[in-house]
Amino acid sequence: MSIVVVTGAVAVLEGPGRVRTGDVVIDDGIVVESADTTGARIIDATGCVVTAGLVNAHHHLLQTAFRTLPGTRGLPMREWLPAMAAAYGAAGVDPELTGLAASAGLAEALLSGVTTVADHHLTWPEGADDVGMARAAAAAAADLGARLVFVRGAARDDPQEAAASAEAIVEALVAERPDGVSIDGMLQVAVGPAGVHSDPRETFDLLAEVARRHGLRRRTQANEVVDVEVALERYGRRPIDLLQDWGWVDADVTLAHLCDVTADEISRLAAAGVTATHAPGCDVPMGWGVAPVRRLLDAGIPVGLGTSGGGSNDAGHLLADARLAMQVSALVGPQLPASEVLTMATAGSADGLGRPELGRLTPGAAGDVCVWDVSGVADAGVADPIAGLLWAAPGRRPRTVIVGGRVVVDEARLVDADEAEIVARLFERVGR
Ligand SMILES: [Zn+2]
Repeated sequence: MSIVVVTGAVAVLEGPGRVRTGDVVIDDGIVVESADTTGARIIDATGCVVTAGLVNAHHHLLQTAFRTLPGTRGLPMREWLPAMAAAYGAAGVDPELTGLAASAGLAEALLSGVTTVADHHLTWPEGADDVGMARAAAAAAADLGARLVFVRGAARDDPQEAAASAEAIVEALVAERPDGVSIDGMLQVAVGPAGVHSDPRETFDLLAEVARRHGLRRRTQANEVVDVEVALERYGRRPIDLLQDWGWVDADVTLAHLCDVTADEISRLAAAGVTATHAPGCDVPMGWGVAPVRRLLDAGIPVGLGTSGGGSNDAGHLLADARLAMQVSALVGPQLPASEVLTMATAGSADGLGRPELGRLTPGAAGDVCVWDVSGVADAGVADPIAGLLWAAPGRRPRTVIVGGRVVVDEARLVDADEAEIVARLFERVGR
């Protein structure tokens, strides 16, 4: 039994809208009300705010290797997709590159307070070692001590091959699990086509069958601008109509982006129990607009937060994107309060992954904790330290990060890996 006590914090954000002071006690990886703390590891959080580890519900970790690539910025999505595909082709997507990009992306995640990343992996070259790629991403997460949700995506893949590959990945990573989550909760497998703009009904059908057989969560991207255009062009219908017909508007489905969504579509999504992921750090630079998060939340749709990938959002810093989400919300409705956006980045994302034990610090929750120092000059004069987490000190990084009761970031440095080595290996692999 290992006990960790985080003590002395200015404020502890325990769960949606619940702020307290006092200790956070983790016993054998789980948050408990109290425990015998003799011999416990004590983390001094004086001058700090304590939150649950953030949950990035929508990332494409492979794109970490393709940030700020010339010829991929300021393009409409129709030109961006082939430009990115050419870059993947030139680099050769294989287990090595998948693992190195995942290492860099997950290290960046932990160092910015994200303890769980959902990696929507969309690039599966003909003849590639799919299971090897999934294993490489999983190994990168295990080495760093991060939680990974590996989403076997598809983007114009052959439907039968995508389903066979998803099946093989489940068998390799989380065989015999009823919900696609490993016993220790560190690894989860899910499935999800890139969207109706990219994949035919057969891919949605076959990946849904794999999900049903193994109890997996399903995810896709919907209603960014091009998705709507292509759906209208190709099928004469909007994406949500298609997804509903295809059985993808349901309680086990999370839809990312949802920029261009009508009032009627919002009520249908809410009635079906769909969850959503907001990704303004991608939607805004891609020119897709701002998802109507206030209206989604008011309709009763749980909304999480994601960064999307390095090809559109060159950072995987979820707290920075929480700040952006708060700022741009005022362009499409009433401004979202900081506390609500923090809920999106924690419990909201976790709920969309079917992981109610993540993203909160109530007794019984997973012991994933971030300690944010708010004693510096950038926080001086802040009246509400929880709101200040987002409003003040953009780009802040946690001092300590704990995942499942294990300290993985200490004094803002990785405990189990060498950051410089991760950086050097990725640059070397992509020849930059
Ligand atoms: Zn995306």
